[in-house]
Amino acid sequence: MKTYRIAVIAGDGIGQEVIPAGIDVMKIAASQAGFTCDFTQFPWGSEFYLKNGRMLDADAVDQLMKFDAIYLGAIGDPRVADHISARELILPLRQRLRQYVNLRPMRLLPGITSPLAGRAAADIDMVCVRENSEGEYCGIGGRLHAGTPDELAEQTGIFTRRGIERIARYAFTFARTRPRKMLASATKSNALQHAMVMWDEVVGEVAKDFPDIEYRKYHVDALAARMITAPQTLDVIVASNLFGDILTDVGSAISGSLGVGPSGNINPDRTTPSMFEPIHGSAPDIAGKGIANPIAAIWAGAMMLDHFGERAAHDGILKAIEGVIGNAKVRTPDLGGTAKTADMTKAVTAAMVAR
Ligand code: ATP
Repeated sequence: MKTYRIAVIAGDGIGQEVIPAGIDVMKIAASQAGFTCDFTQFPWGSEFYLKNGRMLDADAVDQLMKFDAIYLGAIGDPRVADHISARELILPLRQRLRQYVNLRPMRLLPGITSPLAGRAAADIDMVCVRENSEGEYCGIGGRLHAGTPDELAEQTGIFTRRGIERIARYAFTFARTRPRKMLASATKSNALQHAMVMWDEVVGEVAKDFPDIEYRKYHVDALAARMITAPQTLDVIVASNLFGDILTDVGSAISGSLGVGPSGNINPDRTTPSMFEPIHGSAPDIAGKGIANPIAAIWAGAMMLDHFGERAAHDGILKAIEGVIGNAKVRTPDLGGTAKTADMTKAVTAAMVAR
């Protein structure tokens, strides 16, 4: 029987509550589809930092290389500065494991009310393919004359032809798997005359290899507005690191709750493990109360199984999620109900077993 080895970093806050839910669901999906998942837990995160002065073991990347994928909960703790928790765990893993694609479905599930008036599930079904390894978040720059009136800061964005071409190619290929076969590229070539002009040139060149995809480019500000005013006209979106970061927050806001959206940090070359996580953070305000919505983590688990090529297992989990959210009987407080994390998880597993 095929076995997938999965490294689990449940991390901080509600990560510790929603990741076990995702594991329970994946185990059922695996047994239904005829494969097994072997989960290995790692204690990394803010608690680990407070004890050991580091977010990860020094050889964490070497340890993780032995796995088929990484299942991450959330990283963030009020006792640890954000630039330490994110910069020393999530960003190095994304970069060292060459997870150059950040894949973010932005879908309004049937049964959830969007803050956009009059919009239903059929109107909001987008996926953002965000460049995850370079661009505006490459970290190059510095500060000079700190604390003086002459202080200056420089933050450099790095865009490479190779980096743009591979994210564009992934996005076009991904668009081919979708019924509408559309790709929107987020640019700002009217103001960023070097990087974004090159972005447009390279994406345009890749587009020639995909004549079956309806390709359009939009300035990122107009695209953000379009996500609000005409989300039904958008399907797959390809964006740089910063633009994708902002657009996906718009996407998750119009999709209802933060507790629902998943994401994947993917190395399409498959030479290193990819990493799947809910989009929400550690939610310290509700951590420990057992009321976090586990759907985002469960959906992230489904994406991981899809990455392994286990499409039927992915689809089974998604059907169960849609059923539970759609019938509105079991809802955590973020969706207006009173259910606990465990109730929601039980409802999803029951829906899977009932199929
Ligand atoms: P962090 O610093 O780790 O990013 P945060 O509180 O700034 O934490 P989120 O964790 O994303 O950011 O939480 C934002 C808000 O959304 C919080 O009020 C939180 O309670 C709520 N929230 C996030 N995830 C969930 C979830 N899975 N279920 C219910 N509510 C959630």
